[in-house]
Amino acid sequence: MRVIKTIILLILFVYSFTNQAYTQDFSKIDKVVIDAGHGGKDPGTVGKNSQEKKIALAIALKVGKLINENLSDVKVTYTRSTDVFVELYRRAEIANKAKADLFISIHCNSVTSPRAIGTETWIMGTHRSAKNLEVAKKENASILLEADYSKNYNNFDPNSPESYITLSLIQSAYREQSMGLAEAVQSQFKNRVNRVDRGVKEAGFLVLVYTTMPSILIETGFLSNPEEEKFLLSEAGQDYIASAIYRAFRDYKYTIEGEKVIEVPIKIEVPIDTNKVQEKEEVNIAVEAAVATSDTTKTEVYFGVQFATRTSKVNIENSFEGVSDIWQYEQKGLYKYVSGKHLSFKDADKQKKIIRAGKYKDAFVVAFVNGQRVSRAEAEAMLK
Ligand SMILES: [Zn+2]
Repeated sequence: MRVIKTIILLILFVYSFTNQAYTQDFSKIDKVVIDAGHGGKDPGTVGKNSQEKKIALAIALKVGKLINENLSDVKVTYTRSTDVFVELYRRAEIANKAKADLFISIHCNSVTSPRAIGTETWIMGTHRSAKNLEVAKKENASILLEADYSKNYNNFDPNSPESYITLSLIQSAYREQSMGLAEAVQSQFKNRVNRVDRGVKEAGFLVLVYTTMPSILIETGFLSNPEEEKFLLSEAGQDYIASAIYRAFRDYKYTIEGEKVIEVPIKIEVPIDTNKVQEKEEVNIAVEAAVATSDTTKTEVYFGVQFATRTSKVNIENSFEGVSDIWQYEQKGLYKYVSGKHLSFKDADKQKKIIRAGKYKDAFVVAFVNGQRVSRAEAEAMLK
């Protein structure tokens, strides 16, 4: 009985936050809230020489600075810009009051093993492994330092698995867009900053559940890994991470607004390993041979409108209302549903507006080269 009561209270509580959200128009991305995790009496996780709250703040301020310097139409709001404690619900409240188009929360990870390495970006959802639940538990534990946490979060207990079942009943209205931004961040980390890609994941984060806009939580690396700790403590490392988040934000903004991405992403050059040079040459020969014998190796570039993601395969014929020309692709164990194959971003963008007018309010355009999901900038570079 107590559980049911908690569920009802929590749902009502979240709705009191989210009600106004459905009228907000996200076609222009010009207000972003950047949230440096922890602060003040809450150091977050700690490494041998580091505190999460300090690294998160340094990166957050750098991201904001890059946005201010390069995207003059965007207003940046911070949940904190100094070393102070801010309650999790307050952070969401700041974003909701600012009517932000995006909420980006910045954190660092740690586990007992010093070997774990890499970045991961989280969206609000149901955890699919005990490991994923642990990350959410750790981040939500900040509320234990808040004075009235049991009252403020309607008896949510960050350590009880039951509480997370309740939380997972609250479906985010902005799942697709959050996912789109999260994927852009991971792609930047991997391709431009050479970080180990641990992927986009889902779990119940309190700071995300109360926000009324697409929102992500970024774990920028493990302070428990000495090498990664050194990287995250360095000015250069923080600059790299911040610029990757900035570029992901910019690309996402341009994708949503239907603008051209001016800068074409260049992959970071990995030092050449002489053992691999031969392999590469063999591949080149194979590609040339294929080109000579057939023209089916021509690069195929197309754009579609992604409108749904499911954890298991569904029947395309009867699962989606009012969307035609549906096809599916699989990425990291998730099934993603796309409508249409267009030769230009512009055409896909037109179709996106039609789909958004129907049931799928947060549909967005995705780009493919030879069946591989790529960024819009990469696809457009191939078209040139
Ligand atoms: Zn954290």
